[in-house]
Amino acid sequence: MNKFILRMGVKKTVFIITVVSVLVSIVVSFIVAMLVPSISIKMTMLMSILAPLLIAPLVSYPFVKLVFQLNALENEMRALATFDSLTKLLNRRAFLERAEYAYTIAKREKQNFCILAADMDLFKLINDQYGHATGDQVLTLFGQIVKKVSRESDIAGRIGGEEFSFFLPNTTIDEAENFANRLHHAVKETSIDYRGIPIHFTISVGLAAFTGGNLSRFDALLHFADTALYEAKKKGRNQTVKVVGL
Ligand code: GH3
Ligand code: MG
Ligand code: MG
Repeated sequence: MNKFILRMGVKKTVFIITVVSVLVSIVVSFIVAMLVPSISIKMTMLMSILAPLLIAPLVSYPFVKLVFQLNALENEMRALATFDSLTKLLNRRAFLERAEYAYTIAKREKQNFCILAADMDLFKLINDQYGHATGDQVLTLFGQIVKKVSRESDIAGRIGGEEFSFFLPNTTIDEAENFANRLHHAVKETSIDYRGIPIHFTISVGLAAFTGGNLSRFDALLHFADTALYEAKKKGRNQTVKVVGL
């Protein structure tokens, strides 16, 4: 019933309810007219049309509107449970869920895939120097960059404060490196305005490449990318370190 109402829209549904009410009313009125012959047919007809015409829209409109409001609320709640509000990327739970599913497919099809871990460099310093709000702006901007650089099939999520993960299905190490380079480049090209001063930021990336087949547990694969990220930090940040996984 809900689906039917949603498909029809508020006005059409109210119209259908009204027409059905009128028809039911006509039938009922005819039965009454047959049982009570003293009421004139004309009067019965008029009553049978006017009554539902007034009542049906009044009754059905708030009810139908409520169904639409509930549906909008449900969509909003689903989005809140799936996406991070700042970056608009998947949140940790949604990322892990989707990436793990993509992983089972890659494993079954024996496809290449890559996992990347990215972390903002010296982000605490940005917060300390320019304030938390500027830090938030940087995170929002990075979310937009990720969306621009990613393919439709890539899975990108904010898995911690200033940490991000990517699952790139059907992707070779060279293609993933290209993706990481495009991320670095786009980050380099952008800045946040802080009282007229352009604030630049950088990221470090750990890239782990896998060829499907004999793979271990999914969280172990994430660990490969984390280890590579740690290396990138150690080597001076603002770079990508790649490792070949199992
Ligand atoms: P490193 O290059 O080694 O990663 O240094 P870092 O300063 O980025 O790392 P650290 O873990 O010391 O600091 C991360 C900072 O990220 C600290 C925390 O306050 C900040 N952060 C986490 N989540 C948010 C957020 O949602 N908004 C803002 N503005 N800052 C955040
Ligand atoms: Mg950091
Ligand atoms: Mg961090």
